[in-house]
Amino acid sequence: MEASYSADLAIIGAGIVGSALGYFLSSSGDNSKKIVLIDRSFAPLKGSTGHAPGFVGQYNESEVLTRLAKETVHEYRRIPAGFDVVGGLELATSPAGAERLKQRHDSAKRAGLEAELITTEQAIRMAPALIKGEYTAALHFAGDGAANAIRITTFFQDEARARGVQLLQADATKIQQANGQVEGVMTTAGFVQAKKVIIATGIWAPELSDFQTPIPIIPVAHPYMYGKYHELSEHRAPWVRWPEHHVYARDHGTFYGLGSYDHPPFAQQPNETAIGDWIEDFGATLDTAMKFIPDSTNLEIREKFNGIFSMTPDNMPLVGAVAEVAGLYMAAAVWVTHAAGSAKFLAQMIQGEALDETLKKALDPNRFKGREMKELTQESLDGYNHIYKTVASSE
Ligand SMILES: Cc1cc2nc3c(=O)[nH]c(=O)nc-3n(C[C@H](O)[C@H](O)[C@H](O)COP(=O)(O)OP(=O)(O)OC[C@H]3O[C@@H](n4cnc5c(N)ncnc54)[C@H](O)[C@@H]3O)c2cc1C
Repeated sequence: MEASYSADLAIIGAGIVGSALGYFLSSSGDNSKKIVLIDRSFAPLKGSTGHAPGFVGQYNESEVLTRLAKETVHEYRRIPAGFDVVGGLELATSPAGAERLKQRHDSAKRAGLEAELITTEQAIRMAPALIKGEYTAALHFAGDGAANAIRITTFFQDEARARGVQLLQADATKIQQANGQVEGVMTTAGFVQAKKVIIATGIWAPELSDFQTPIPIIPVAHPYMYGKYHELSEHRAPWVRWPEHHVYARDHGTFYGLGSYDHPPFAQQPNETAIGDWIEDFGATLDTAMKFIPDSTNLEIREKFNGIFSMTPDNMPLVGAVAEVAGLYMAAAVWVTHAAGSAKFLAQMIQGEALDETLKKALDPNRFKGREMKELTQESLDGYNHIYKTVASSE
């Protein structure tokens, strides 16, 4: 096949994950390698990255995810205006919820994170516009914050471009392979010949992942709303989450945002963007979520949308080599919270560096081999209501 472009490595998808890969893979100092970063739209970003409110909570009951999040925050904090360390608050409304927050506090401290159990009064002082009433426990993570995902993605792209990475605006239509070896990517701009190819197309990853081993990346619908504008608050409130109720709120500075996982999971096939049609039932979901906000805040919906992101059966990303096709890699179902850490890990793998075996095993894209896709899809959907899982995994 005649190649329009020739590269050592082609990355498909330039959301926060693909762009971070372009950045880390071009940072090794060896600029002799030719890298092409392909996306159907660089501006605006049409994927999940362009719509994420950017909550970054580093502690996770999965030690692997906590490690990836810590590494990610370390990277984001180096990016001008990339990460706002506003902190995060979790509030419990029942004795069992309080017990879980205590466990999370203890485990987070053991993981080396700043965590403190505080009183309801202290919590209200931190976020008076977002918190009312009495809580059985409040947990403060001082080092958490808000990632400006678009800013970070642009930074990674700019830095990658400055180091010679070619940004190609095109639609990838097929991964070309022969005798179990990747040959490149067919795109609307022609054939990109490449020795190595990475699928980093987020919720669209299944479209390019036609393998015998199932790749259970299940796009789901999620409601988020922006409140009406107000004067810029002097003090930015931390993120507030009510884990037992699957609700979270963000102080965006000149408006508040509110999201909820408190609804039956909806699998949603994306079109060209990560925004799906509004789902009627989401109105009631947001109404219920708004009850947590003090009346004095006068939270009213200015804009609401259905944002699509990926779920997997074990709530873990798929990052690593695709066993069936030599030279093919994947980094998908990765949250903003784990994007830089995951990209760094895959860059190490591609560059042949020593790898942490625990991470490699937990993130292995081939780990669902032999399983039925129907069952894996159901498990992924079931996980949606446990995104704020606060029960220790041993329970
Ligand atoms: C409403 C909402 C709230 C969220 N909240 C949070 C949060 O608070 N914290 C958090 O950590 N995460 C959050 N997420 C999840 C987070 O946004 C995603 O996990 C993350 O952005 C995924 O990044 P990505 O680069 O893998 O995918 P994307 O950003 O979707 O990028 C994929 C890219 O691939 C391109 N592409 C796809 N197919 C092709 C093709 N065939 N050819 C060429 N280009 C292609 C797309 O144009 C796109 O730019 C949220 C997501 C949404 C939608």
